[in-house]
Amino acid sequence: MITLGIGLAVTLVSADLLEANRDGVARQVMDRHTALARQAVSAEATRYVDAVRNVAAAAGSQTDLTRADFQDLTAPLADQQFSGASAVVFVVPAAHDRVRAVEAFWRGRGAGGLTLRPVGAGEHMFSVFERNLDGTNETVTGIDVTQAPQSRAALLRAQRADAVTASDTYQLLRDRDLPPDQQQHSFVIAAPVHSPVGADGRRAFRGWVLMGLRGQDFIEGTLRSSAGDLLGATLVASGAAGPEPVAAYGGPAGADLNRTVTIPVAQEQWSLRTTARSTRLPGGGTFLVRLALICGTAIALLLSVLAFILLSARARALSRVVEATAELRRREQEAREQADLLGTIMDSIGEPVLVVDRGGALVHHNAAARVLVGADPGAWPAGDAVRHPDGSPFPEPELPWIRAARGGEAVDRVELTIVGSGPYEGAVLSASARALRSADAPGAVAVLRDITARKRHEEQLARAADLLERELGQRRETEEQLREQTAELDAFAGIVAHDLKAPLAAVAGYSELLQYDLASGLTSEAGRAARSSVDSIVNGVDRMRRLIDNLLSYATARDAPHHPVRVDPRLLVDQIVTERTAHLRAAGGVPPVIEVVGELPTVRGDPAMVRQLLDNLIGNAVKYTAPGRPAAVTVSGGPRPDGTVELVVADRGIGIPADQADKVFQTFHRAHPGTGYQGTGLGLAICQRIVQRHGGSIRVEPNPGGGSRFRFTLPAAGNRRTLPVID
Ligand code: ADP
Repeated sequence: MITLGIGLAVTLVSADLLEANRDGVARQVMDRHTALARQAVSAEATRYVDAVRNVAAAAGSQTDLTRADFQDLTAPLADQQFSGASAVVFVVPAAHDRVRAVEAFWRGRGAGGLTLRPVGAGEHMFSVFERNLDGTNETVTGIDVTQAPQSRAALLRAQRADAVTASDTYQLLRDRDLPPDQQQHSFVIAAPVHSPVGADGRRAFRGWVLMGLRGQDFIEGTLRSSAGDLLGATLVASGAAGPEPVAAYGGPAGADLNRTVTIPVAQEQWSLRTTARSTRLPGGGTFLVRLALICGTAIALLLSVLAFILLSARARALSRVVEATAELRRREQEAREQADLLGTIMDSIGEPVLVVDRGGALVHHNAAARVLVGADPGAWPAGDAVRHPDGSPFPEPELPWIRAARGGEAVDRVELTIVGSGPYEGAVLSASARALRSADAPGAVAVLRDITARKRHEEQLARAADLLERELGQRRETEEQLREQTAELDAFAGIVAHDLKAPLAAVAGYSELLQYDLASGLTSEAGRAARSSVDSIVNGVDRMRRLIDNLLSYATARDAPHHPVRVDPRLLVDQIVTERTAHLRAAGGVPPVIEVVGELPTVRGDPAMVRQLLDNLIGNAVKYTAPGRPAAVTVSGGPRPDGTVELVVADRGIGIPADQADKVFQTFHRAHPGTGYQGTGLGLAICQRIVQRHGGSIRVEPNPGGGSRFRFTLPAAGNRRTLPVID
């Protein structure tokens, strides 16, 4: 409705404006058409005047103007479409008394049938040559043109002024017999004809060239093409008695516009009055206004309908767009919320999460992964940034997320380490990856769990377990030792109880016997018994002393702190040999043969312990000799590649059975019990203890050729490594 209102309002305003403008436009059109009509009439009149002037000039130039000459001169006029022109004639003056002579003269000039018909008795003017221009064959020669005062006056004015003139209007003489409704206002155009300049320098007047014109035909022929039926026109001649209408052309009914312009015709100033009806002029009609109203209204209606259709369609489209936009916004909001939620979840995950495309290129990662992939995620992992935990290269196709993205594998807990800089430098990560099945974004998602702490913890646990195992082993060993020591103590207790009780019981018994003997008086028999008791007492005490000494030595070898220094075994052997053979030499017995073979390397050890060791071995070698055979002992030694020194004490004694080779080093174990060899069974146990406390070992083997050969190792003097302390 608004559109319709606006359209109608615009139409009405436009119609008003058109109406207001119509008058101005009509006046302008009227002026333009009048100017065109004036130009047409003026140009046509000038053409006629020029034609008459030219014929007159040509006729004047002829020395003896003949009818043939005139025909030739006027021949071009026949083709020039002079509307309204009746004929062009050559007119000569003739005094009344000269009429026949003149007639004869022009007959002689080609006008054979010429008969001059004078009117009145005054001066005459006769047409002698003629050319019809209106298509008729009517003869117009011989006519006395003075019978029409208007033509006579025009001819006289032309002669006097020596110029082309136009006459006032009148009825052409040849039209006077036409019916009144066919008669027209006519006029003539006349031009004087003079002969060429003669010998006297003057031109003789010969007559006139005269063209008759029918006004109505002239004006219609002239204005038809320029004024059409829009304009009415009236040509008004400046007659001697005042303006005289020459001809009228058209003239629309109800003309409301008129113009008057002057037109020069020969020597006269004629007027052209034009009329027109403004509404018929182009741009001046009310038709345009009505048309504008109708068209405007129609257009307004059409526009209204169109606007209604468009508006309703637009409204529907807008409604759909609004709905679609709302739906789009809702989905966008949902997508954004989901993306935010996903991003929040991703970022809240403390472990790096990577999303790669089908080719394995990183496309998303969470906040925790940011410190892993660095500032240029597209370039991660560069080179050998990812390695196996043992440091070996991790080929790119084997990376868990690449396997999942390219091969669709489900990869679980693959351990890897990160090389480079950053918080994950050196960390051990456990990577699991799954392929993404989305058609829009195929690829894979991978979660990397930092298991560095767990791995360290596991390693610590493993170390702790190992340590515990060792401690348990040591504890078991200690317990074993404790058990051994307990057993040893039990054995000690038993041995001590037995070996000390027995001598003590013997000492007590023999002491009572000795007391009895001494109380009953020492007879010879009693004296012998007393001496025997004393000997037994001494033997028992001696056994107890040796046992106590050995027990002390064993305790010393086992528990006493030792102070290793450089020790020369040769010196110790010499001292031992001297001590052990001195009493035999003093008693005149056969001393044992004890030899040192070769150089004995110096050792590092506790001097008292090493001396005890050598003394026990050499002592056994001397002791366990078959009765009646002198002992033969050799001591030798040499360095070993492991930085120790091996010393060997070999004898030619009774030897040790093979099954006793290990047992002889046990406390209180004796290989030859009941054979009369005195001993406590602690000597070799002391030796083993001493060797062990120096980090060495001892064993016995048969001596080739008979006897036994004890081998033991001690640290070389130059070896300052800490000796193990065996408690
Ligand atoms: P004992 O005090 O009995 O000598 P040891 O511990 O020194 O105790 O020796 C243990 C046993 O080893 C001895 O009883 C003996 O039977 C045997 N034995 C030790 N040395 C020799 C040796 N050189 N030749 C033969 N038997 C030996």
